[in-house]
Amino acid sequence: MELQSASPAETEVVAARLASELVLGDVVTVSGDLGAGKTTFVRGACRALGVTAPVTSPTYTIGHRYQGEPDVSHLDLYRFTAVSQAEWGDLEPYFENAVVFVEWPEAAAGGLPAVRAAVRLEHVDEQTRRIVIEGDVTFAHGADPGLRHGD
Ligand code: ADP
Ligand code: MG
Repeated sequence: MELQSASPAETEVVAARLASELVLGDVVTVSGDLGAGKTTFVRGACRALGVTAPVTSPTYTIGHRYQGEPDVSHLDLYRFTAVSQAEWGDLEPYFENAVVFVEWPEAAAGGLPAVRAAVRLEHVDEQTRRIVIEGDVTFAHGADPGLRHGD
């Protein structure tokens, strides 16, 4: 499905709705250009899953793991062109007993566990983003006045 978000707060609300459908072991990819709102989206999901720690971009580390209900892993594969066997070894613990969000999933190619939902964020203008969500989620979208559904 496709939505438009007019602010970072709205993007967080969309993410929170998705998060409410996730269960332990689910993997969600989050794609989009720099500044599209990937980390903002993950932050909203984390808040909905009970994470109180600051959620920041893990661009300069492989990932973060946050305590929540359940725990949330936040991977950022920006630095990778491909993920080697050894690197998968380092990544594996992030997939254990957690819900996992993966920014820049392209580098993982087919290496990721089954993906529950794929989120793509696109710039529309400075404050507006198109959010496309694909996957096995119903994403019950009620009558949020702030959220306009795309075509
Ligand atoms: P990414 O992780 O994709 O590089 P970030 O989430 O770190 O992106 O940054 C997105 C930037 O865009 C933030 O500065 C945020 O305030 C801004 N922004 C403006 N409008 C939106 C929106 N509708 N949704 C998400 N972020 C937005
Ligand atoms: Mg980011």
